[in-house]
Amino acid sequence: MQYYQNGFRAGDPDLKPAAEGIRPTGADRPLPDKVDVLIAGCGPAGLCLAAQLAEHPEFTTMIVEPKPGPIEKGQADGVNVRSMEMFQAFGFGEQVKREAYWVNQSNFWMPDPENPEAIKRVGRVQDVADDLSEMPHTLMNQARIHELFLTNMRKSPTRLEPDYGIKVIDLDVDTTTEDHPVTVTLEYTEGERAGQTTTLRANYVVGADGARSNVRRAIGGKLEGDAAHQAWGVMDILANTDFPDVRMKNLIASKSEGNLLILPREGGYLFRMYVELDKLNPDERVSARNLTDTDMIAAAQRIMAPYTLDVKDVVWWSIYEIGHRLTDKFDDVPEGETASRTPRVFTAGDACHTHSRKAGQGMNVSMGDTFNLGWKLISVLKGRADASLLHSYTAERREEARRLVETDHKWARIMSAPLTPAELNGTEERRIIKHFIANGEFTAGLAVKYDPSAITSADARQDLATGQDIGKRFHSAPVVRASDAMEMQLGHVAEADGRWRLYAFAGKDADAVHRLAEWLATDSASPVVRFTRPDEDIDAVIDVRAVFQESFEEIDMGKMPALLKPTTGALGLQDHEKVFCVDHKSGQNIYDMRGIDKDQGCMIVVRPDQYIAHILPLDATDALAEFFDGILLPAKDGLGSVTKTLAEA
Ligand SMILES: Cc1cc2nc3c(=O)[nH]c(=O)nc-3n(C[C@H](O)[C@H](O)[C@H](O)COP(=O)(O)OP(=O)(O)OC[C@H]3O[C@@H](n4cnc5c(N)ncnc54)[C@H](O)[C@@H]3O)c2cc1C
Repeated sequence: MQYYQNGFRAGDPDLKPAAEGIRPTGADRPLPDKVDVLIAGCGPAGLCLAAQLAEHPEFTTMIVEPKPGPIEKGQADGVNVRSMEMFQAFGFGEQVKREAYWVNQSNFWMPDPENPEAIKRVGRVQDVADDLSEMPHTLMNQARIHELFLTNMRKSPTRLEPDYGIKVIDLDVDTTTEDHPVTVTLEYTEGERAGQTTTLRANYVVGADGARSNVRRAIGGKLEGDAAHQAWGVMDILANTDFPDVRMKNLIASKSEGNLLILPREGGYLFRMYVELDKLNPDERVSARNLTDTDMIAAAQRIMAPYTLDVKDVVWWSIYEIGHRLTDKFDDVPEGETASRTPRVFTAGDACHTHSRKAGQGMNVSMGDTFNLGWKLISVLKGRADASLLHSYTAERREEARRLVETDHKWARIMSAPLTPAELNGTEERRIIKHFIANGEFTAGLAVKYDPSAITSADARQDLATGQDIGKRFHSAPVVRASDAMEMQLGHVAEADGRWRLYAFAGKDADAVHRLAEWLATDSASPVVRFTRPDEDIDAVIDVRAVFQESFEEIDMGKMPALLKPTTGALGLQDHEKVFCVDHKSGQNIYDMRGIDKDQGCMIVVRPDQYIAHILPLDATDALAEFFDGILLPAKDGLGSVTKTLAEA
């Protein structure tokens, strides 16, 4: 972690200096007439976006929520490894690792062929395959995840707090103006003003307002899909049991009493149970059954037999039907008008896709949506990119949502399907185990692969880094920081700050990195020169890092090019953290692990949301310039500022 860049400040280094002139936000604060971004909903999607935007006082952000305050328990709990990697970029990955339950193994229990009325463990699978990610798969209460985002917002320069007790009821987009074209009608839901409405105007509105989204409705979207007519219950409980695997994740299929999923939780005592309840008739709603936590406990006890379950406290419970649905409207631009209009309204999270709870994707995919949208909005609002960049949100996330709903649909059906006689007597491999193993990458959130577009090159030299798939997230690996011999993960230099990363991996000729750095810092065609503004640090838009194959003892930091030891911040202090080496001590060589060409080296361009945008030879400066020219807008007087910063280095 780097701080004191702008001078020494005592106390919490995460607490950033407050920006001047910001609107005090929070419950019961007066509302503004205009705002740049209005976010509807304080679920994981809304808060993940708010936490990114809150870091930028150059534009105004507001987030409204009908509830009187943050939720305290319940809802989702699965944090897949991709979300954990994202949390690392937000700065709270280590905290979640410390607090959460880590899913190391998943167990499968089925009827005992010798005694089918009782269950028996039939399989054990390592939950996350080796080196799939440096981060674990964890389970933690959704409310705590919300709290971590809220803390980041509170400590950001804008000190952003949700405006609680307010909901979006409708909106209208005026396509004839660029000045705050979205008129939003809000309604107070709490206190003396409950039921009163007011309006404000926004440049952008993001509907992260859940499955019954008013924002989606206002832009003419519908959730289309099916319900599986299967009632499932979920309960978070404090209980004793003689079931031996209670501190592991378990999928339990009984002979005739249905299925059960056990998910241990943070803290060592709490666990969650998903219990299959009755099949519903095609036109029946689960609410009609009047099922309660008592029904759930009784069903769990029957499924777990002969093991016992003694429930001491039901912390939270809920009963629902599985629905797999997707919307046709991720933004407000009608099909066929994308060339003439750019989006002003977006939907994200459950507002645009719903799926079964048990694959644990809801919270993860919702945050994935707004991690994709966040940097794009920041780029446009800061004038770094044209508003047409915002079309890529729908293009990328709608395709991911479609894949999610499809895979989840299969998963839910396999989980609820009765066991075949061959599965029961163990002569045939259980479908559920096969499916679980085959879908490891998907469940981890790592199957996301964006198609070629202006922000994901179709011409990448995949052969130069065979283990870093273009369009997928940058796969971290261990390195040693050259300046202080710190062993660390290279991917952890990426923060959720809207900046691009360019990793230059040296080949046999280490000077190629020096030549690239020189070109990046001085050439008028360089994206660093073209897109960095006069008043900005040289790494404000593109953060360049280099990796060398030598050990840190062999690296001469004194001879590093100025771009790799730039002076930044109010005091012009030198940054010593841009240069890395292979971790020879551990034997985990990032070149071998990620298939990086040791002779030629390469540069890997990584988007602000950690996805790989391009892979190029170190001397492919023209192609690099062309790629960024297709995305970013030139900064005024960029050359002067960069040259000045480097001259001081
Ligand atoms: C009751 C419930 C139980 C759930 N149980 C599970 C579970 O057991 N396991 C699991 O994996 N997932 C569960 N989920 C789903 C999981 O929580 C979601 O997939 C995930 O939270 C999606 O995040 P989101 O931010 O898109 O939406 P949500 O988390 O639904 O957040 C939407 C937010 O928008 C607010 N809102 C609603 N209307 C408006 C409006 N008009 N204007 C402004 N704000 C509005 C809501 O109050 C809410 O805070 C549950 C969800 C709910 C609602």
